[in-house]
Order: sequence, then structure tokens, then C-alpha cells
Amino acid sequence: MKPLSKATLDFLNRSPKLFINNEWVDSNSSETLPSINPATGEEIFRVAQAGEEDVNRAVHTARTAFNKAVRDMNPSKRALKIQRLADLIENNLEPLSQLECLDNGKPISRAIADVKAAASHLRYFAGWADKIEGSSIPVHSKDILVYTHREPVGVAALIVPWNFPLVMAIWKLAPALACGNCCILKPAEQTSITALYLADLIKEAGFPPGMAQVLTGGGETGALLSHHMDIDKIGFTGSTEVGKKVLEASSKSNLKKVSLELGGKSPNIIFDDADMKRVHQSLVWASFYNSGQECTLGSRVYVHKNKLNEVIDELVKRTSNLSMSSGMENPDLGPLVSAEQADRVMGYINTGRNEAELILGGNRKTGSLSNGYFVEPTIFTTSNHEATILREEIFGPVVNVTSFEDEEEIIAHANNSRYGLASAIWTKDISRAHKLAQRIEAGVVWINGYDLFHPAVPFGGYKESGIGREMGKSALELYTREKAIWTQL
Ligand code: NAD
Repeated sequence: MKPLSKATLDFLNRSPKLFINNEWVDSNSSETLPSINPATGEEIFRVAQAGEEDVNRAVHTARTAFNKAVRDMNPSKRALKIQRLADLIENNLEPLSQLECLDNGKPISRAIADVKAAASHLRYFAGWADKIEGSSIPVHSKDILVYTHREPVGVAALIVPWNFPLVMAIWKLAPALACGNCCILKPAEQTSITALYLADLIKEAGFPPGMAQVLTGGGETGALLSHHMDIDKIGFTGSTEVGKKVLEASSKSNLKKVSLELGGKSPNIIFDDADMKRVHQSLVWASFYNSGQECTLGSRVYVHKNKLNEVIDELVKRTSNLSMSSGMENPDLGPLVSAEQADRVMGYINTGRNEAELILGGNRKTGSLSNGYFVEPTIFTTSNHEATILREEIFGPVVNVTSFEDEEEIIAHANNSRYGLASAIWTKDISRAHKLAQRIEAGVVWINGYDLFHPAVPFGGYKESGIGREMGKSALELYTREKAIWTQL
């Protein structure tokens, strides 16, 4: 196990502050929240809890910065700053990945991959900063000229969850900054450390004071932002329940623009003509990546009846070989993020024991891991499609594997969910794959693969999995407003 770097240790000695106007300031209330290492249950840091006065201060700073410095900033200058931020993130790979690993629990190699992905994401959106265009529209009159252009929304609050703390923050910051907005980032209370580390890099990258600020705090801070009358946009990633609250807050305040990346219960569909070697290699990660704390987790596995036994046997074998320990030891799987999350997942597992046959796992880890929040990767099988474990998002290492017989049946099962985030189809019959892809109610369909992502490809959900598309050109729509300008000639 590599020792913690000096930069990591120094950061963990910092006192709880908020990042407002490119400065570290105390919160008005002086209230703080603990950051817990989920591998050990020990407190490693404290973060400030931003209250109403802090939120007002950050919003006022952002509005002033937008009007004075950001609205008219040359787009190519924005692009350079975003590129510089990407460089700085890469230069700080070691402390950022170590802090992410300690705070969230994920294996260090995954944390390193997250930091690199964050830098790539920034680079992609830096390229858009000076290419945000409108259009001219023919209205069939020689006396009228109409064109549109896209303007930044203004002040955007970005509220993110704890499963990929740095990546989720950058998924929002990169397009929001590229479009010329002032941003207030609110990380999840369980995992705020890398967002705070990022704040120093934002300053070093040369963003003007107020263009990107970081407010830590719990759901109360998120609610203050969602209800605020002078915030123009909320970019939210989190649970469907809280996403609905954010939408409601917008409707009860100033009708601010809202985009939502929410939960999922994704079907992973395996036909009997699939390349089974690739299926087996992928399935274990589609089922348990990030200890199952992934919005796209393939938690509903449907296997053609001819291959059900083979798939279950192989999944059990591979899952049994997964290592689990503190993320710093770089196991296959780390702990869940918090005691609360471990209890929640165990609650679903206990429900599952009454609804389905438990094939593997189902317990908290004991012995040397008992102080951490480790839950075994767990496999159930039931063909009761109304079972709770098939209806609700568990957000932990729990999958159900069951069989199907034909295409009509599998489409009905796949779409029998309030969620519609991701899905996968495994078959060598590529016509069938594309025909079914059109019928699946989900924002993403992977064919013969799983969890494929690229900053250029839109990502987001159907149904209760969300509103709007992050990534790709589509993300520009989330952080701009379109204006039509008419001239009577
Ligand atoms: P959560 O909804 O509990 O919290 C998300 C964020 O919202 C946190 O920063 C939290 O402090 C804040 N918040 C809480 N109450 C709030 C309120 N009333 N108003 C405004 N903000 C509030 O979600 P979580 O437990 O942190 O994350 C897990 C969820 O996130 C899962 O449902 C998962 O599927 C979803 N998720 C979705 C995606 C996606 O891209 N679709 C990605 C990652 C996670």
C-alpha cells in the first residue's frame, strides 16, 4: 500500500471553510459535518455547513462576477482556463485520488481513473467554449431577418452525489463554465473533500473570483440553493426523491431551469446467441462496479432460459473471487460510502431474502473489516417481477438474475420500471439488437458492452431517471438560454 502523500496529509489538516469569491472563509454558523473514512468508520476531516447567509453571500458574489467579469469574457479565454484546470487536476493526480479513495472508499486505481476522466471531460468542454452558436431562420419574408443566439443562464448551482464525487462535479462544472456561467458547486455531505481540493485549483487556473465557488453542507444547503430567487439554474445529480424536491423548489421560487440526473434500475439482457466469454467478463463489473453504487448499475439481469444456469454459475464463480478491503489496498471492491448506506442496502437484502432465493453473499463483512461499511456482493434470483428488489434502486452490490424466453417478453420486463436510465443487450444478432434498442425506454442502450462513456456522448434518463442530457453537445443546452432576435428590415 502506497503511503499518503504530503499534499494529501496537509489537506486533511485544514480547517472547515467555504470557498467564496476565490477565498477560504468561515461559514456564518460555524457548524460543521464529519467526513468519515468508510473503510474504518473513522473521522478524517470536517466540512463547514453552509447556511442561509453563506448561500446568499455566494449567490451575490456569483451574480456580481457574472455581470462584471464573466458575461463578457472572451470565450477562448474561458477555454484556456478550463484547459489549465484540466492540467492542474492531472498534476494533482496523487492527492486527488488518495483523498477520493479515503473519503468515498473506492479502490485507489478506480479513484485514479476518476481523476483522469475528470481532466478529459474538462478538455472536451474547453473545446466547446468558443463554438456555441445560434442560427439564422428563414421566415419567408424579404423584409424580416431572424437569428438566434445562445446565452449563458447566469448563476448555476451544481448539486452532486457521493458515488463519483469529483467526476460528478466536473460533469457539471465543465459545460457550465464552458458556456460562461458562474457556478456554485455543492458536493454531497459524505464526500466533499475533493471538491474542496478542486477549489484551490480553480483559483490557480485563473478563474475570476465568483466564477466557480464551493459550498459544503447537507441537504439543507441544497434546499437553500434550489429555493433561491437569484439562482437561474440547478444542475442536480442524486436520488429521484430529492430530484423531485428540487423541481418543486424551482416551481415554488423563480422557475429556475432544472436538469436532473437521477436513479436507475437498469436491465442487462443476455440472449443465448451472445458471445458468452465477453458476457462473463463484463457481467461481474456491470453488477458490482463501485460496490454497486452506480446509477447505471445493471441490477436487473435477464438471461435467455438456455443460458441461465451457465450465467449464474460463472457469475457466482467470478464474484466469489472479488477481493474486498480498504480502497487504499486497491481491492476489487471497497466499502459502501456510509453506515447509513450500508444499513439501507442490508435492509433491501433482508427484504430480498423473503422475496427471492439468495444465491451468494447477503452479509456485512466481519473480522478485520467490521468497523468499515463493507457489504458482500449479493446475487438473488426470482422471477417475481414485482419484488421490491426488482422495483427499487438499491444502490449497493445487489443484483437479481432471472430468465426470459422471447423478445416480446423481455421488452415488457425491461420497460416495467419507473426508471429509464441505462440498459444493455447482448446478442450476435445485430439486427435484433438495434430493433430492441429502439423499443427500450432508457436514455442509454449498450450493445455487447456495459458502462461505456465518453464526454462527447449524451447521457441521461427517461421517465423518473431524469430530465436533460449531460455530456456531448446536448449539455450546452442545459447551461445556455436561447434568444430569438427579429429585425424588420
Ligand atoms: P441524494 O439525492 O440523497 O443527494 C444528492 C445531493 O442532493 C447531495 O449533495 C445532497 O446533499 C443534496 N440534497 C439532499 N436533499 C436536498 C434537497 N432537499 N434539496 C436539494 N439538494 C438536496 O443522493 P445520493 O444518496 O447522494 O446519491 C445517490 C443517488 O444519486 C442514487 O439515486 C443514484 O442513482 C443517483 N445518481 C444518479 C446519477 C446519474 O447520472 N443519473 C449519477 C450518480 C448518482
